[in-house]
Amino acid sequence: MSATIVMKFGGTSVADAEHIQSAARRIVHKREEGYSVVAVLSARGKTTDELIAMAEEVSADPDPREMDMLLSTGERIACALCAMAIHDLGHRAISLTGSQAGIVTDESHTKALIVDVRADRIRAALEKDNIVLVAGFQGVSSAGRDVTTLGRGGSDTSAVAVAAALDAQVCEIYTDVLGVFTADPRIVPDARKLETVSFEEVLEMAASGAGVLQLRSVEYARNHGVRIHCRSSFDEQPGTVVEAEGDTMEQPLITAVTHSRSESRITLIGVPDAPGAAARIFEALAGANVNVDMIVQNEPASAGGLAEISFTVPREDLRVARAALEPLAGEAFAELHAHEEMGKVSIVGAGMRSHPGVAAKVFGVLAGEGVNIDMISTSPIKISCVIDR
Ligand code: ASP
Ligand code: MG
Repeated sequence: MSATIVMKFGGTSVADAEHIQSAARRIVHKREEGYSVVAVLSARGKTTDELIAMAEEVSADPDPREMDMLLSTGERIACALCAMAIHDLGHRAISLTGSQAGIVTDESHTKALIVDVRADRIRAALEKDNIVLVAGFQGVSSAGRDVTTLGRGGSDTSAVAVAAALDAQVCEIYTDVLGVFTADPRIVPDARKLETVSFEEVLEMAASGAGVLQLRSVEYARNHGVRIHCRSSFDEQPGTVVEAEGDTMEQPLITAVTHSRSESRITLIGVPDAPGAAARIFEALAGANVNVDMIVQNEPASAGGLAEISFTVPREDLRVARAALEPLAGEAFAELHAHEEMGKVSIVGAGMRSHPGVAAKVFGVLAGEGVNIDMISTSPIKISCVIDR
């Protein structure tokens, strides 16, 4: 069989009939170049947001299983419509739900993890000369056989997982931007498109707010050796290739500046200075599936004193985080303070590994702008500062 390419189209790329037809043309074009093509689609435009709003209209606390039944429909609509558009271009195409496509996940509704891709049905359809459209963002749970979704932006991960299972030549992520930029071009007008970027850098960028690829998709791609090409669906020019850090890639000191406006900070006061204190707190959060980001704790200055622990969570997880911690109040900590409106600005660059003095410069720049730093965390290739939103 010919080489396989996976093409993923984001919500803006399939927003209306015209966009779907143009995505269909792009897909057909690839097929006519001789590739076997699987296209993974997101829901059209703001569909997922609208579905969430519908759920919130009828319930203050929608059941996660039913949420997944609801949210998974958006991607199915996009795929069925795109298949029809491809038929009109004279090609065979079939659409599949995540479940039909063999995307098996764990049981964690609304943020399920892919545990297996049983791609035989996709393969069989490709062999019958079909273009295969796979509904992104969803799968089926292995034990309960329920529809699950993979978390916001999850279609990227669907596409990478399908690409890995099919041993695809590349996973192309078609989006409304030209690629991965050195900063958000809406804020930094002279931001540049990166031709290549390493998995490590993109992971740090995605984790620190760059919206271009879902964090989990990059992890999955790195773990399975999937080449990602992130490019525009409105433009023919090549975008950004994400690949393993290697000899061909130059390592600039700073690759990108990223930011996020959707952080919340929780500070726990009066944490016992004893083994197991942190474990208890973060086990409770992990049990509630809260994605904790930056954690800061200090040894109390005076002997026998109590410690403070601060950490950040995505704002959307704040309510769940509080609920998970409340039962521990009085024992694992004395008081919980939440700061809802935090932001984060980060500098990412593989070249930082071997260059001292970058942190000092970052803090100097923020100081020069009168920005107060709340929390700092670093990795060998990243410096992040939590600041006021
Ligand atoms: N439609 C889903 C979302 O908006 C998944 C995706 O677009 O990747 O999060
Ligand atoms: Mg999306």
